[in-house]
Amino acid sequence: MKELEERIKKEGIILPNDVLKVGSFLNQQIDIELLSLMSKEVKRLFGNEKITKVLTVEASGLPFATMIANEFRVPLVFAKKSLTSNISGSVVKAQVESFTHQTTNTIFVTKDYINENDYVLIADDFLAKGNALKGLISIVHECKAKVVGCAIQIEKAYQGGGDEIRKKGIRIESLASIKYMSDKEIIFQ
Ligand code: 5GP
Repeated sequence: MKELEERIKKEGIILPNDVLKVGSFLNQQIDIELLSLMSKEVKRLFGNEKITKVLTVEASGLPFATMIANEFRVPLVFAKKSLTSNISGSVVKAQVESFTHQTTNTIFVTKDYINENDYVLIADDFLAKGNALKGLISIVHECKAKVVGCAIQIEKAYQGGGDEIRKKGIRIESLASIKYMSDKEIIFQ
């Protein structure tokens, strides 16, 4: 998406360790108009598919996933990063190595919210090495539901996670895909 690429070029800040900061319009302060354009683009891309749920992981995937769920008029489910007292019943979990925090988290989804009749569109803000997506995909499979595909705001393609998952036959649509990033420039695919 041209609008997203232009915004990344204008406001993205490249931090050490391959982290792109987009807090001014996507990750902390959110440009709702741009977010709305992005969710409509996802609706256009996946519009012919049967989708019954949108799934993401807290916290930074939530705004994008919420708007997508609104476009498809289906429930949004999000994986939690801790087992709080308001989670009851059986849960499905996955281990996910965090790209930004360099720690390993367990993520949880209550089993009742995704079942074998569901067609799930997974959404997240960034795709880097693919660990977050792999964790979410494994949760959907464990719930015996189908993964329709994945919608990503920004893929850092050079980090390889996206291609590894695509090779397994899973459709990934990224609204901006970065081919190369250094402290001086960002080049899109
Ligand atoms: P992966 O699991 O694909 O390696 O990384 C994806 C997750 O790490 C996303 O959920 C996102 O929150 C975070 N992430 C990865 N790369 C970046 C980045 O460059 N900037 C920001 N803000 N988050 C990132």
